[in-house]
Amino acid sequence: MSQHPSSTSPGDAPVASAAARAGAAAASSASVPGQGGRRLDRWVGTYAQRTASMTASEIRALFAVANRPEVVSLAGGMPYLPALPLDAIAELSARIVAEKGAQALQYGSGQGEERLREQIVEVMRPQGIAAHPDDVVVTTGSQQALDLVSRIFLDPGDVVLAEAPSYVGALGVFRSYQAQVEHVPLDHDGLQPAALEEALVRLRSQGRRVKFLYTVPNHHNPAGVTLSLERRRAVLDIARRHDLLVLEDDPYALLGFDGDPLPALRSMDAEHVVHLGSFSKTFAPGYRVGWAVAPHAVREKLVLASESAILCPTSFGQFAIAEYLATYDWKGQVKVFRELYRERRDALLAALEAHLPQATWTRPAGGFYVWLTLPGGLDAKAMLPRAVTGRVAYVPGGAFYADGTGGHSLRLSYCFPTAERIAEGVRRLASVVHDELEV
Ligand code: PMP
Repeated sequence: MSQHPSSTSPGDAPVASAAARAGAAAASSASVPGQGGRRLDRWVGTYAQRTASMTASEIRALFAVANRPEVVSLAGGMPYLPALPLDAIAELSARIVAEKGAQALQYGSGQGEERLREQIVEVMRPQGIAAHPDDVVVTTGSQQALDLVSRIFLDPGDVVLAEAPSYVGALGVFRSYQAQVEHVPLDHDGLQPAALEEALVRLRSQGRRVKFLYTVPNHHNPAGVTLSLERRRAVLDIARRHDLLVLEDDPYALLGFDGDPLPALRSMDAEHVVHLGSFSKTFAPGYRVGWAVAPHAVREKLVLASESAILCPTSFGQFAIAEYLATYDWKGQVKVFRELYRERRDALLAALEAHLPQATWTRPAGGFYVWLTLPGGLDAKAMLPRAVTGRVAYVPGGAFYADGTGGHSLRLSYCFPTAERIAEGVRRLASVVHDELEV
């Protein structure tokens, strides 16, 4: 990666070769068998079996090239942090150290700081969730919550039902616990309940142990769709009739562009739902603070699992977020983010309509992502090196499927580049697609 710093290689060729190398690195880390592997890594025969499924994600391998300034990256899902009030955050951080440093820099409770858990209860209220602070477990981002839920529920061979497509980071966690993901199709209204029930009944009749449904109901990553209210009711009805746990991963709930969020699944059923939230998209991911709300017995296991993994979540991060929520107009800041992302979503959709009318795509009502299906059966992964040469990057759709499908689709993120850069990125993407169609 460091062989081609962007300052010395702004041209197309190094970008293309770096893209090829990124692909090769992902491929080689996926399989290090036999003698060759032993030469590269003396511990190759020593690793636990679960590491066989830990492969570099396509997104990670891509970041090195996509982050170059000459590339318009529609790939990463990074929140636009230049919009944050950095001076106010610097000031409150200094205040915490000066006034409460001995506590804020100390180990804390495994379940999380009580003051922050009380505030999280308020943050969830617009979604209709009526939780008690004791119901909340603070985690190191919702990513750790995904890991903890998997750790307490999944044995090798267990099945997780998940939308097709699904958040790549969750698929990685499920794989690392040697679970199998069975996909359930979604459309513009989210997960299809009839398909969910069919899959659940079929798998259980085959003797498969289906442990939970994993779903991102709001502004889905990567599909950009939201589960309708009617379908929320239908999914919970299935969960109750078939005794199915639902893992509701919900970091984008407050980033809807059109009014109030829909009621969370957890607000409609406290017994069957584990709800995950995060400050990563509404404030800043660098604090690594998220949370889980779970039925009592599940929550106790989550806390034990978390204590054994990390002892306690970041004390300083929790103090900083608690202070920010208490002293800053955080809701106003979420509104600033919403307006910014709405403008960028509009820019992306307008550019797609103008330049790529042959493709089909979703129309997100919030969040960061558009899911696009290429025309003419084009393969998004095969096209990527040529797109990067054309100075635009995206994430190929296959990354979001556990079953090798999704190859004709891709994810576009509009959260970070400006509206002008997004329009330019889509022009570049369209030109690559048109070249491919002509070959
Ligand atoms: N779930 C989803 C659907 C996400 O998109 C992300 C971040 N991209 C996460 C979980 C993890 O977020 P964090 O750990 O920063 O809270």
